[in-house]
Amino acid sequence: MSDASPPSPVPLPPPAWPGMREMRVANKTIEDPDGTIVSFELVPVDGKPLPAFVPGQFLTFRLRIPDPATGQPTSLARCYSLSDRPGLESYRISVKRIPGGVGSGHLHDRVQTGAVLEVMAPSGRFCLHPGNDPVALIAGGIGITPLLSMINAQIARDPDRELWLFYGVRHSGEALQSAHLQALAERHPGFHYLLCCSQPGPEERPGVDYHHAGRVDITLLRLSLRLRPYLFYLCGPQTMLESLIPALEAWGVPGERIHTENFGVVSEAARPPLALPVATSALPVPRDAGGGGIVTFRLANKKVRWDGSVRTLLEFAENQGIEAPYGCRSGACGACQCVLEAGEVNYLSNPDYTPEPGTCLLCVTAPRTDLTLEL
Ligand SMILES: Cc1cc2nc3c(=O)[nH]c(=O)nc-3n(C[C@H](O)[C@H](O)[C@H](O)COP(=O)(O)OP(=O)(O)OC[C@H]3O[C@@H](n4cnc5c(N)ncnc54)[C@H](O)[C@@H]3O)c2cc1C
Repeated sequence: MSDASPPSPVPLPPPAWPGMREMRVANKTIEDPDGTIVSFELVPVDGKPLPAFVPGQFLTFRLRIPDPATGQPTSLARCYSLSDRPGLESYRISVKRIPGGVGSGHLHDRVQTGAVLEVMAPSGRFCLHPGNDPVALIAGGIGITPLLSMINAQIARDPDRELWLFYGVRHSGEALQSAHLQALAERHPGFHYLLCCSQPGPEERPGVDYHHAGRVDITLLRLSLRLRPYLFYLCGPQTMLESLIPALEAWGVPGERIHTENFGVVSEAARPPLALPVATSALPVPRDAGGGGIVTFRLANKKVRWDGSVRTLLEFAENQGIEAPYGCRSGACGACQCVLEAGEVNYLSNPDYTPEPGTCLLCVTAPRTDLTLEL
């Protein structure tokens, strides 16, 4: 792979509105034959125009879900990438049903056209860099959503930019908007679409229903892409990122040209920890208290020694069976903000959301000292 300078950062606008805004579901569409993905088109209840966003960004929702035991509404934060381009009259998200999933199940089963949802402004840094550098997009499953927004935006703006999509699914029935992507590829010579099926059904025809049998792997990328300074954008399961990122680096792609998003647990390989700010509680403990030692979950009445087996306080709490709120798991939405009653934490990545004084974001912090959380 040829050398290339690092891309300049994408200019990100400040949050388009503070806190939550009410959005009405203008349309709900079932996207696939099995009904596992539904798209929601959202319009603001206040009737004001929708602010633009950067393709690749996501929305955070506060979902009010009845507690199955008491029937009382409980509140849950969940993030969904914008799956169409900016500049339209509605925002679109596309949600895959996760078996047993509380948030996705609620959206599939209970949120119908006309429903009103509470939505935070678009956020996130997994964004398509403007310019002319050729682009390779790699999606695994529902990880297609931010890439779909990037493709639609890029083709609306400049369809001549070289743009590849490698879309990995098990069989073609799982692919979101595949007919639309195929039509775009037929109309725009700059856009190349490869649907890769790891388990195509016997009735599926290679070259017609899909383009490649097998997963998206480095061999396919090397055979398809020319020796040009591509920008890579990967969104998919952790396993996909963990296999492709080192393979791309071994091929000679500089790390700063590889951009990733993961909808679940953030990959250690994908995001090496950075030396970043320290958050301090209102009552700091002395530095000699033993770096990252004992974590006290006050409300759960549990004290556990930090053993470094996980990356973040959120994962640590989950491993102890302590229910902690979360949304983006990447420091963007603030859903996991927790009062830090004593002690200090290290931030592992720079959060987009600014936590209030005396709190920390569990999803992007690890203990620096003994600490007490209001959890
Ligand atoms: C930045 C960002 C953007 C996202 N964009 C989208 C999007 O465009 N479309 C979309 O459908 N989802 C997207 N997600 C994932 C989404 O936020 C939820 O995590 C997902 O809908 C599952 O939530 P749930 O409440 O249904 O499942 P939960 O009730 O939280 O989980 C139920 C079970 O499923 C497991 N689980 C949770 N998430 C996943 C997953 N993604 N894959 C497999 N198992 C899982 C959990 O470990 C748990 O065992 C995004 C996440 C992030 C952080």
